[in-house]
Amino acid sequence: MNDAVQTTIIDEGKIQETLFRTRSLSDDSGHIKEVLAKALELKGLSAEETALLMNVSDPTLERAISDTAKRIKEQIYGKRLVLFAPLYISNLCQNECLYCAFRAKNKAVKRRSLDQEEIAREVVTLVNQGHKRLLVVVGEAYPKEGFSYVTRSIETVYSVKTDKGEIRRVNVNVAPLTLDEFRMLKATGIGTYQLFQETYHRETYQRVHLSGKKRDYDWRISATDRAMTAGIDDVGVGVLFGLYDWRFEILAILQHVAHLEKTFGVGPHTISVPRLEPATGSEMSEHPPFPVSDEDFRKIIAILRISVPYTGIILSTRESPETRRESFALGVSQISAGSRTNPGGYSEDDRDPDSSQFSLGDHRTLDEVIRDVASLGYIPSFCTGCYRLGRTGQDFMDLAKPGDIKYHCDPNALSTFTEYLLDYASEETRQAGEALIEKTLAQMDDKQREISLGLVQQVRAGKRDVFC
Ligand code: SAM
Ligand code: SF4
Repeated sequence: MNDAVQTTIIDEGKIQETLFRTRSLSDDSGHIKEVLAKALELKGLSAEETALLMNVSDPTLERAISDTAKRIKEQIYGKRLVLFAPLYISNLCQNECLYCAFRAKNKAVKRRSLDQEEIAREVVTLVNQGHKRLLVVVGEAYPKEGFSYVTRSIETVYSVKTDKGEIRRVNVNVAPLTLDEFRMLKATGIGTYQLFQETYHRETYQRVHLSGKKRDYDWRISATDRAMTAGIDDVGVGVLFGLYDWRFEILAILQHVAHLEKTFGVGPHTISVPRLEPATGSEMSEHPPFPVSDEDFRKIIAILRISVPYTGIILSTRESPETRRESFALGVSQISAGSRTNPGGYSEDDRDPDSSQFSLGDHRTLDEVIRDVASLGYIPSFCTGCYRLGRTGQDFMDLAKPGDIKYHCDPNALSTFTEYLLDYASEETRQAGEALIEKTLAQMDDKQREISLGLVQQVRAGKRDVFC
């Protein structure tokens, strides 16, 4: 496969035509109910069916959409919620993305790329908080050594061991790479390669990306193809909501998903749903061109859950605690917690707005988030089992689709949650967590309980990093 590909992944004409054709059909409650009944078969929905749901405005039908999303979420993901933290290693950038504080011309940001020692210090802080999964984030410009800065940094993250633990899975959010660079990235042992197209709408894309390599829409949208060709079979996609009409973006995500499924036999592992937040030195971030209301944001999550049931949905600390709480039931399966978006922000205990990427909506610590999540009945999970056992890409989907994943994910969630409670939690969180574990075990089927209890007891007896 060539590095430079002219892509036809997105057919804008078809999206606009589908949106136009379905606009007046969404009042047909009989049809909407048929679509929702079909969604419960867990096979996903077509673009046409998804568009019908997006246009619904009747409150009763809106509730039916939420209820369907909740049932699907519960059936596939149960009560688990995976936790991670982003690790910003550098805010150097040569691009001019109008919405981002790290854009090259923004003089208000203090530029910094962490050296390996500083990265190790950040990792020690995160490990000692209880994190097991990190998302390494970097602007699109590297210090003198070039791209190997990123691979070396990932090696550093994996090399850190404290008496409290270690990071077991590193995902990355790094600008599009060449095929050879993706091979180097794969060799470091990353989990998911994440990249957001920001907007799939080409004209908007050109308007908001003024200069730098990121201006090339095709180079960006073809990056997940290159990653998969290089053997990274867990890729994550996403849209920065607020740049263009969210309805268009959802249908475009579906086209991207269909393209990956057709070309590589497996769709994306995750979809991220960042919403544009205020960023220092960015006028656009203060006044998003297509603001997404809280109500529409909930709809976006519910509809994605219904249309792409087996793909994880990631929500970051850009959102407020209230929005995050509501989103768990609707379909979100992974959340970040205790995040900093400025390089050095964890170990230097610094929320320096002058070097942060955007402002956060949730400032709580990991322990506070975990206590809250548990109080809502969700099991915080730090599981890395699938990835460690090679259950990625197609292998993961083969296990997930018939529902067998619950014999792995639920036990692994409980064992990693037990680790957290014993090694890191405050007393209040530990008590709430232990009660939740007992309640969850009691509600499981016999097979699930036997496997889960086996793992939990091993952790209680002092073993760590046990999974199935
Ligand atoms: N520099 C790389 C890139 O652009 O792909 C990767 C990291 S970038 C720091 C991560 C993501 O942050 C971007 O893909 C974008 O969606 C998001 N982002 C940028 N500015 C934002 C803002 N003001 N509010 C919310 N998210 C933002
Ligand atoms: Fe740079 Fe990424 Fe921010 Fe764009 S979004 S300015 S590429 S860090």
